[in-house]
Amino acid sequence: MYNYLDLQDTIVAVASPAGAGAIAVIRLSGKSAISIANGMFRAKDLSQQESHSLHLGYIYDEAGQRVDQVLCSVFKGPTSYTREDVIEFSCHGSPYIQQRLLSLCLRSGARLAKEGEFTLRAFLNGQLDLAQAEAVADLIAADSEAAHQMALQQMRGGFSQQIEGLRKELLQFASLLELELDFGEEDVEFAQRKELEELLLKIRAMIKQLMDSFQLGNVLKEGVSTVLAGRPNAGKSTLLNALLNEERAIVSDIAGTTRDSIEELLNIDGIQFRLIDTAGIREASDQIEAIGVEKTYEKIAQSTVLLYVYDASQLSQEECEADLARLRREGLAVLVLANKCDQLEEGQTLAADHFRLSAKQKEGLGELRSALRNLVVEGQIHQQGTTVNNLRHYQALEEGYQAIDAALLGLEEGLSGDLLAMDIRAALRALGEITGKVDVEDLLENIFGQFCIGK
Ligand code: GDP
Repeated sequence: MYNYLDLQDTIVAVASPAGAGAIAVIRLSGKSAISIANGMFRAKDLSQQESHSLHLGYIYDEAGQRVDQVLCSVFKGPTSYTREDVIEFSCHGSPYIQQRLLSLCLRSGARLAKEGEFTLRAFLNGQLDLAQAEAVADLIAADSEAAHQMALQQMRGGFSQQIEGLRKELLQFASLLELELDFGEEDVEFAQRKELEELLLKIRAMIKQLMDSFQLGNVLKEGVSTVLAGRPNAGKSTLLNALLNEERAIVSDIAGTTRDSIEELLNIDGIQFRLIDTAGIREASDQIEAIGVEKTYEKIAQSTVLLYVYDASQLSQEECEADLARLRREGLAVLVLANKCDQLEEGQTLAADHFRLSAKQKEGLGELRSALRNLVVEGQIHQQGTTVNNLRHYQALEEGYQAIDAALLGLEEGLSGDLLAMDIRAALRALGEITGKVDVEDLLENIFGQFCIGK
């Protein structure tokens, strides 16, 4: 665990409210703030810039890929809020971009700030007096409670209940171990070591699973694979170009994974979509086309989203439905795009849930982009099972994992109850951070509530 009063670390946090906004602010404070920022932001050497100056440039990840275009503010100690060197990146506001920037900072040596820690530093460095610091702390507390609730709501599928159940069992053991300490001289074991070991193994396996879901489960990390399909001449290529042209600045080609389809990255509010253009769907008239068609079905099978495009001025609604019936499958989000709406006859009607577009005239693209974004933001695209998509939870899991590991090792080596209890308490704290129950008091209450043996 970190020492709050230790000012050696460089801390980082999202300083803007939780959730998506137009802009988010990532704030770094500490000795290495500028060098960490320099590693990611290559437009200029930030250490050479004046305090209170603003710089435009791109953030790059370790692989040299652009992550986002940001405005970087440089504040040099002691004239900053914390009196330390402070960097603030104003980036695009999607949770995905925020988390990418955060994890880059963490991998570069910063650690996540605890609630109120920037203000704490301002106080420790003599920038604020205690009353001022408290006022800020109140505000922050109100905010982070809401943020915490939101984060909890994001976790699906009884995940926090599961953790809470295991945490209670562990608490029981911690209490028993503590109790042994009171009988130190008498060499008693209230806590069955075998049972404790089983519980620890169970918890560790569960934590591992959740950690893996963080690494793999996040569809956003890789980009949402999105297939563009439809009959030849429906306007797929035109649509692809129209979508990409508007985003030219942040679009890049993916080096050809296959030759039969083109993959391009489309960035909507910081969420990456991997757009895959396919050969058209049509009864195969020759061998070569047959291969293309088969590939289309294969691509659809591997994708999360299908954009089905049809020529609304030519294709009847029945034909369109027939195509869709062959393409839909479980777990595939489908958006139906009625293209060439500029050529619709007077009075021609289309199904209400079809998006009316004209790729050529660039009409309806905004609605399409919002719909794509909402698929992700409103959680219509899911991975299977529980996923952890919050960096703070991930860190808590990691801490919990290490503590459980240490306790298991301690058991194996026959460590005494008081040392075991220390690791278990650390694990309880970490798990409690996830379920929102951080409680030293919990432990005491459990001991004195349940085992009131005349003390
Ligand atoms: P693909 O075979 O599905 O990739 O279709 P293309 O993008 O090559 O388009 C086929 C033809 O339809 C081209 O001549 C386009 O200019 C035209 N087209 C595409 N979108 C529209 C549109 O919204 N309105 C009109 N009027 N023509 C379009």
